[in-house]
Amino acid sequence: MGYVRPQAVHCNADSSSASVSGLRHDGTGQASASRICLIIILAILEHTPWNLPGCTFAIFVVKINIPMNTMAATLLDGNKIAAQIKAEVAEEVQKLSAAGIRPGLAVILAGHNPASEIYVRNKVKSCQQLGMLSENLTPPDSVTTAELLQMVNELNNRDEIDGILVQLPLPSQVDSKKVLLAVSPEKDVDGFHPVNVGNLSTQRPGLVPCTPAGVIEILRRSNIPIEGRNAVVIGRSDIVGKPVAMLLLNNNATVTICHSKTKNIAQIARQADILVAAIGKAGFVTEDFIKPGAAVIDVGINKITDRAEFEKFFAGDPGREKSFSEKGSTLVGDVDPHVAAVAGAITPVPGGVGPLTIAMLMANTVKACKMRRGSERQARS
Ligand code: NAP
Repeated sequence: MGYVRPQAVHCNADSSSASVSGLRHDGTGQASASRICLIIILAILEHTPWNLPGCTFAIFVVKINIPMNTMAATLLDGNKIAAQIKAEVAEEVQKLSAAGIRPGLAVILAGHNPASEIYVRNKVKSCQQLGMLSENLTPPDSVTTAELLQMVNELNNRDEIDGILVQLPLPSQVDSKKVLLAVSPEKDVDGFHPVNVGNLSTQRPGLVPCTPAGVIEILRRSNIPIEGRNAVVIGRSDIVGKPVAMLLLNNNATVTICHSKTKNIAQIARQADILVAAIGKAGFVTEDFIKPGAAVIDVGINKITDRAEFEKFFAGDPGREKSFSEKGSTLVGDVDPHVAAVAGAITPVPGGVGPLTIAMLMANTVKACKMRRGSERQARS
């Protein structure tokens, strides 16, 4: 069913996202028109002709959605939002550099885990692109808890290091909790330290976990209201589910958290204006979980290699078919892509929440730098 939803366009970076929301993007970033947007521009002249300063323009966009396929939802483009955030971070880095401060991030990558190595490479690359100092420590697989504690301690004491990230998982002989607890809370750019968890839950300034912070940025920058809305979070991990729920609560949503022991999840999820899925199960959230028009944020990243599973999610999608045939695998979130037929807005996988994680890590490093060194600097000058 088509629908008409009048929408004001604000004259900031978000306006462009409103104008592209009529396009359907697939996982490869290709777009095909699925809706028509009519833009009516009214110029209200204040005693002056068109081409003189003093004209006030009021712009209204009337979106007429004509589904040429099953997709009704607006795709929330994580790559674009991440690029906006990184541009803002780069500006902050420039300002700090002009004051003689260069934000620095140190990553500890123990042993050889191919997925972790890719993540860390991307983090280092982002730091370099944004003009930040980055340092990569790579102890061997055989590293001990004591050696890692010493490494963290040295980084805690180095003034030019603002953020310390211990890439998980650590080798099995290492006491991961002990190592994470050793990171100074003011350099804890992952936001996992109990001090920062406490700061978040008591609404004090601190460092917030990157992926959950990215979820809020997606909602905020897509003009999806949070206050007064029903939000349901599926998943209660310390890394994603709990901090997302806390951030939504801090933004005045009414929050319900579901987990593996929750009964009637679909029924609870159907109450949600905002549904966040962070479970780690491919396509777990199906159309019957969705209140029509809801915003659906899919945090999950699951690799599928089975042809039958691929067909279940992506049959008839030529972009996916091509990459699946070439690579023998593709990524799917915790949300079945068919949910896009019912939801009002949805994050794709890949290209939704994922890109925000690194962007928020960069933002957290600058925030940590400003909190620790900015005030010192101001006091001295
Ligand atoms: P996790 O630590 O394994 O936690 C999974 C949560 O889902 C748990 O709370 C678990 O409940 C719940 N759960 C599992 N099966 C369930 C079921 N059948 N019904 C309801 N709840 C169920 O995972 P995580 O670290 O939070 O990550 C979740 C997903 O997000 C994964 O796919 C991960 O790859 C992805 N992720 C993505 C990013 C990103 O940058 N986009 C970052 C981090 C994680 P219990 O507590 O009861 O066991």
